[in-house]
Amino acid sequence: MKTWTICALSIALTPFVATQNAVAPVPVPVEEEPHHRVLLKNDWIVLMRVSIPEGERTLYHTHAPDRGAVELSKAFVTLQKMNEFESSPLPTQPGDVSMTSGDQPLTHRVHNVGPGTFEVVDIEFLRRPQEASKAAAAVAGENSSARAYKWTLAPGATSAMHAHERPHLIIAVTAFPLKMTAADGQSFTREVKPGDSHWVDAKVTHSLRNEGSSEAQIVEIELK
Ligand SMILES: [Zn+2]
Repeated sequence: MKTWTICALSIALTPFVATQNAVAPVPVPVEEEPHHRVLLKNDWIVLMRVSIPEGERTLYHTHAPDRGAVELSKAFVTLQKMNEFESSPLPTQPGDVSMTSGDQPLTHRVHNVGPGTFEVVDIEFLRRPQEASKAAAAVAGENSSARAYKWTLAPGATSAMHAHERPHLIIAVTAFPLKMTAADGQSFTREVKPGDSHWVDAKVTHSLRNEGSSEAQIVEIELK
C-alpha cells in the first residue's frame, strides 16, 4: 500500500516539474541581450548603448558585479531580479548616473513603462584597481572600479581645469558644441549628441566648455 502511494505521487508530480523546466527563462550575457549594443570593449570596460522601446521588456540578462549607467531619457522603468517580483515603476532623468558594486553578478530584466523610448549608456567594469587613484573632480557616484563626474554647463560656461590620472570615458547627455582645452592651451571643438562617448586611455589635464546656446550636460566615468 505504501509503495503504491509513492508511485502515484511521483506520476502526479512528473508533468508539473517538466512544465516548470520548459518555461523557466534562461538568462543571457548582457552583451547578447538584443536591446544592448556593444560600442567598445577593451581590457577595462564593456561600453553599451541600450535602447528599449515603450512597452518592451529585455530578456533576463547578467551583468558584471561592478557596473555604471548614464540615463539619456525621461521615462519610467521597472526592474526585476531573477526569481523576484517586478519593482514598481522608477523614474529616469537624462544625466542620472548610477554606479553599483557587488560581489556577485546581477541577473535581471528591465521593462520600459514609458512614455517614449528608454535610452541609457551601460558600462561593465571588468577589473578592480590594485590601489585607488585620486579623484579628478567632485564625485557624483562611484563603485569599487570607477568614479563618475557630472558637469552641467550653462551656455558659454567652462568647467574647472582638472587632471585625469586614469583612463576615462566622456559621455554626452545633451547635444551641444563641446570645446575641450588641454593644459597647454590647445583646444578642439566637436558637436556631440546624447549618448556620444569617447574613451581616453592617457593622463589628461583639461577643461570642458559649452559653446552652445542651451544648458549642456556631460558625464565622465574614470577608472580608479
Ligand atoms: Zn575631464
